[in-house]
Amino acid sequence: MKKILYTASECTPFIKTGGLADVIGSLPQALVNEEQADVRVILPKYGTIPAKWHEQMTEIASFPVQIGWRNQGAKLFKLKHDGITFYFIENHHYFERQGVYGYYDDGERFVFYSMAVMESLKYLDFTPEILHAHDWQAGLTVAFANILQPIKGMKTVFTIHNIKYQGMLQFEAFDDLFILPREHFAGFEWNGMINCMKSGIFHADKITTVSPSYAEEIKDPYYGEGLDSLLRERAGDLSGIINGINTDDYNPMKDPHIHANYQTSRAKKKENKKALQEAIGLPVNGDVPVYIAISRFVEQKGFHLVEHILHDFLQNDVQVVILGTGEYEFESSFSWFAQNFSDKMATLLKFDEGLARQLYAAADFFIMPSKFEPCGLSQLISLQYKTVPIVRETGGLKDTVHAFNEFDGTGNGFSFENYNAHELLQQMEYSLKIYHDPKQWQTLLKNVNKSKFSWKDSATAYARLYDELTPAKTKGE
Ligand code: ADP
Repeated sequence: MKKILYTASECTPFIKTGGLADVIGSLPQALVNEEQADVRVILPKYGTIPAKWHEQMTEIASFPVQIGWRNQGAKLFKLKHDGITFYFIENHHYFERQGVYGYYDDGERFVFYSMAVMESLKYLDFTPEILHAHDWQAGLTVAFANILQPIKGMKTVFTIHNIKYQGMLQFEAFDDLFILPREHFAGFEWNGMINCMKSGIFHADKITTVSPSYAEEIKDPYYGEGLDSLLRERAGDLSGIINGINTDDYNPMKDPHIHANYQTSRAKKKENKKALQEAIGLPVNGDVPVYIAISRFVEQKGFHLVEHILHDFLQNDVQVVILGTGEYEFESSFSWFAQNFSDKMATLLKFDEGLARQLYAAADFFIMPSKFEPCGLSQLISLQYKTVPIVRETGGLKDTVHAFNEFDGTGNGFSFENYNAHELLQQMEYSLKIYHDPKQWQTLLKNVNKSKFSWKDSATAYARLYDELTPAKTKGE
């Protein structure tokens, strides 16, 4: 089996701030289960990883890492979980903090991580044929692997999970933090700054992103966040592979977080609805349609549109529940709506995995009108919990949710094209009309029940890409 090392900054069940963690926590398993590759993952050893995982790790090496002219100590730990080997890099100064990101020295922290990965390669009981890096935090692992050649012939793949976050460092960091001669600067430089994501795209043998539509979109200036021209240059090596979800974990039939387990039963979903209403103080009514959103509160997720339509939409006999944290503007406006429409709306300002699953199980509709969406996992989790997504047609949302057509009975959700609040409101009102039309509603639910998003096909697509990069040796070679 091909040996692949994943570099990334988060991974379930150890540490999660968003969808990236879900992907890194489930794709290796899919590849290993299908016997398509031996994938291992190397992560920072954050202080916020729950103690039970720290206790299971064993130290395998301790070494200095050169950051510019200084040496920083690192320790390498190993842990096997569910058949996958994980490595963790420890450094108290960089990773023993309250949170995962959002520090003034995030750039430096991931320069350290990337250099430490290069050093770790000497100590692993495994020689990767491919290093597969994910998002900006790991972009430099690709660049360093290409330039420093820690393992001769090792190929690289870089996956863009979200091009909005690129990891910028001051120009001076090149001399202060890197050990590379200046001639390499071009691959890192962007508008006078050092750009970690650009370095990954520039240096990788192959580039992927997490849906075919997003792979097209990011070559356009509207979506490319300043990297579109580089992506157009590298278009021949760029492809989109849709994410799956771990359907064993996100499984309403056995999810321990939810009140009543179910496969497709609407009666059971109503029980979940009532339990949620009871728990969060909304009027208990199994028949009222419940609309939810679960997300980081950032512009990307289309919350400006949601803000615009809530007043009108809440005139209907509906309930809306929003779970998330993020920008103050959204936290305060959604709290205002919850206070002023307290019998119809609840706003839950926290990150809570169990509560999120209770919402997926209880709801009828999931609102996700993203401005851009590389893949999106929430709409897949919704479909898995038989909750109908309402999305904007962009990126992975466009590839996974298809507009319901009441004339030919196709489609598994509702969608609109333009980033426009009226279009969202129109689809929300339309979804309500379908909800109250038993025949159409049943047709829509049948399509929802048939939607499948396991990792199997995507894992095969990744395996094919790995094969292209390192073709199997024929006999006698
Ligand atoms: P992104 O990675 O851009 O944040 P995705 O849709 O790909 O968006 O993945 C988001 C993941 O994070 C989903 O698993 C979603 O359920 C989860 N999530 C987002 N916000 C919260 C929250 N406040 N509490 C619990 N889970 C959340």
